[in-house]
Amino acid sequence: MIPFNKPFLTGNEINYIQEAVSSGKLSGNGIYTKKCQSFFENRYGIHKALLTSSCTDALEMAAILLDIQSGDEVIVPSYTFVSTANAFVLRGAKIVFADSSERHPNVDAALISNLITSKTKAIIVMHYAGVACDMDAIMAIANAHNLFVVEDAAQAIESYYKGRALGSIGHIATFSFHETKNVIAGEGGLLAVNDPSFAERAEIIWEKGTNRASFFRGEINKYGWVDIGSSFLASELSAAFLWAQLEAIDQIQAKRLLIWNQYYKALQNIESAKLQLPILPDYATNNGHLFYLLCTSIEQRQALINHLKTNGILAVFHYVPLHNSTYIKSRQGIYNLPNADRFSDCLLRLPLFYTLTPDEQTHIVASVKDFFNHG
Ligand SMILES: *Cc1c(COP(=O)(O)O)cnc(C)c1O
Repeated sequence: MIPFNKPFLTGNEINYIQEAVSSGKLSGNGIYTKKCQSFFENRYGIHKALLTSSCTDALEMAAILLDIQSGDEVIVPSYTFVSTANAFVLRGAKIVFADSSERHPNVDAALISNLITSKTKAIIVMHYAGVACDMDAIMAIANAHNLFVVEDAAQAIESYYKGRALGSIGHIATFSFHETKNVIAGEGGLLAVNDPSFAERAEIIWEKGTNRASFFRGEINKYGWVDIGSSFLASELSAAFLWAQLEAIDQIQAKRLLIWNQYYKALQNIESAKLQLPILPDYATNNGHLFYLLCTSIEQRQALINHLKTNGILAVFHYVPLHNSTYIKSRQGIYNLPNADRFSDCLLRLPLFYTLTPDEQTHIVASVKDFFNHG
């Protein structure tokens, strides 16, 4: 069976973990953590980066930083992962769901203005498959209404919007290093603070509500409890693992893009009435995070999943839109978001990972073509 994903190891992870262990500094905010954070700050133009134990943690930090209170409204795309919304629900926010655009799972920026009320505090966007949302349009709406923008860039490392790195545009952004992402640490994440006014407080929230980071830099002579916070830091063991991955980022990206482009080229000739391929807006680059097909119906997609499984290939659908989740339905009733529903029903992801061999990919492409040409 060709799996959907296989975590890729550069081989250096264990060496750096060994070094971290030998150094005797195992908790967070050590040498490897700083290396990873500087990498993000320098390469992507992020004001301040903080390594966390997950993207979910980084999103929870964002909600605390924005001072989200009970009764505040936060606009969130429905076609996303649970954490994009749950982090704000934890602070008492009411989630207002936005639909995807017709052509792409990303939020339709043109729908956002209509969702804004006097209670709205923030707009959360998610760059699906690492493809940029229309950030100029979204930032303009936010500025006009004095709202904050958080980018859930969990899938978007090494991706750009009009030359600017995703995760460097919103007031705050978050990344994930979960084993299914391009660059991994098992579990891991990063908070990107782009609005400098959040930088000092971000570090305090990260360090359990204390000013310990400032103390370690010698800026104050004792540290204590100054704000709310939690243990959001990643350990040095995770940071050491991640550093080996970040060092190999060009190699990882080149391979993923090669596989993505080969899928695109090979499947281009199937009639568009039967199958749609991903669309990349002019303003966005591709980071090869995932390759999806759009079937014409949920029935056709299930038949394709079954056909691929018979051929030893594991292909998987993606999100149940959050507006259709048990949690939201029982609290907020029924939403009508037809585009998110269509991506939920029709989108199928093909295996895409570093060690996918040319033979395996040829077999996957042949099996997909066989389904559409003879099925
Ligand atoms: C993977 C992912 C997350 C969660 O990341 P964790 O690091 O597992 O917490 C959040 N949002 C999106 C869009 C994701 O793809």
